[in-house]
Amino acid sequence: NTFAEIDLGDVLNDNIKNICKYVKPTPIQRHAIPVALAGRDLMACAQTGSGKTAAFCFPIICGVLKTKSPESYGWRSPVAYPLALVLSPTRELCCQIFEEAKKFCFQTGVKVAVAYGGAPIYPQLRSLERGVDILVATPGRLTDMIERSKVSLAKIKYLALDEADRMLDMGFEPQIRKIVERLDMPPCGPRQTMLFSATFPSEIQRMASDFLQNYIFLSV
Ligand code: AMP
Repeated sequence: NTFAEIDLGDVLNDNIKNICKYVKPTPIQRHAIPVALAGRDLMACAQTGSGKTAAFCFPIICGVLKTKSPESYGWRSPVAYPLALVLSPTRELCCQIFEEAKKFCFQTGVKVAVAYGGAPIYPQLRSLERGVDILVATPGRLTDMIERSKVSLAKIKYLALDEADRMLDMGFEPQIRKIVERLDMPPCGPRQTMLFSATFPSEIQRMASDFLQNYIFLSV
């Protein structure tokens, strides 16, 4: 079982080998990536350390590469229109995902940005102005940016909720529901949603049935 057997494309495969130095997929990657590449919604029970970041990033990057129009390169816009959104509970987790995603995206042309609370918003907004395909954010800071009309979710095609159980523990459920409500309304089109959680209590099951369509359940 190798990454080359999963159809991720040459650039991503080179980055996996040369930058990340991953030799073979972890169990969650082996099972989740093909399902996500096939376009299915996904609910995955996976712990930190299982390699779940790559499990949701690789299909998102492949999808963004397919979706992204050439004219979206190098365009400076006062409003950011990411194609993919990764929601994560804390600044630390957002930064970890951001750092990993940047390695995965090396020489792909896919732009990643990060937004989290507890830090000044202006530097984060300035980096968004340079263009963003994949936005990694905490729910609170993202909501703030949407309310300031700095981020639009109108073009989101991929949504990943990471450590969903921790986000609920931290009280983010109302904000997450508002964000997903926006994604369910026009002008947003269809999207693929991936929900990752270490545990699967009834609150997470409810989120899965509210946010996901015809989803595949994975537990590793
Ligand atoms: P995560 O569960 O996404 O936080 O990943 C935990 C750690 O495992 C990170 O340092 C990753 O870079 C690393 N990792 C992810 N996938 C693989 C893999 N296929 N082979 C080796 N290390 C990996």
